[in-house]
Amino acid sequence: MPELPEVETICRQLEPEIEGRWIEQLEIHDPRWCRPAPPAELEKAVAGRMIEGLGRRGKYLLLALDGEKTLIMHLRMTGNLILVEDEDELGHLRARFVLDDGREIWFTDPRRFGEALLLDDDELDAHFAPRLGIEPLSAAFTPEALGEIAAGRTAPLKSFLLDQKGVAGVGNIYADEALFRARLHPLSPAGSMKPEHLEALRDAVVAALEAGIDGGGASIDDYRDGRGEKGRMQDEFLVHTREGEPCPRCDGTIGRIVVSGRSTYFCPACQVRLRRRPRRRRRPAPRST
Ligand SMILES: [Zn+2]
Repeated sequence: MPELPEVETICRQLEPEIEGRWIEQLEIHDPRWCRPAPPAELEKAVAGRMIEGLGRRGKYLLLALDGEKTLIMHLRMTGNLILVEDEDELGHLRARFVLDDGREIWFTDPRRFGEALLLDDDELDAHFAPRLGIEPLSAAFTPEALGEIAAGRTAPLKSFLLDQKGVAGVGNIYADEALFRARLHPLSPAGSMKPEHLEALRDAVVAALEAGIDGGGASIDDYRDGRGEKGRMQDEFLVHTREGEPCPRCDGTIGRIVVSGRSTYFCPACQVRLRRRPRRRRRPAPRST
């Protein structure tokens, strides 16, 4: 499933190619892609607009269009957004943008969970506010900010990182990689992190995501980048999908557990399981003599 690094890879590849181009036509092949909007309505609203940019918020792609409109797209499990130079045999086509230079952008998606929504630019903040938390690659993502999000949370760190309303864009792969880098056990309660853990986890989330971007994203299943190529990050995983292999850091062996229904890979030997912080009990006042 594409996460922040995979979506960011697509943005960085496609934006310089498509910025300033006009969308001559949008052809929606699957009404589920844009529901509840009727496909004909969306096709009409997008056709003839100029592409002002392709950005990202969390795992969402934001296609900025002239007239202060943004087409939000989510790849969900198996979606891909690919710039097609000449028609080839990409399967599972769900929507097709025809550009004024003859090239096309294809949204392909075997599992058909991907989706699109056209909003006015001034609706974006209100749309994302209840869905997405802090951007981990922004300057706002400090250990203190992470601490505020984690405060009082009893959820395991793995589940905490998967929750898009806390830190946006981290999914199953990069949560495992970040927790390994931070030496934190995935079952540690999020609210039990001390300042040194918060700093380690902040740094580790950023490092794991940046490694993913440097690796062109991970293709463990259907992910392809904006040119239709596989990413390389799956070959660079430290722990994710590496059950039974030696830990890259200690003498331990990578284990696998299930947290929040997701396979979770970690090293039981060097990732510390934090305990829930005991409630502070008020000490009885010393008796005066
Ligand atoms: Zn280890």
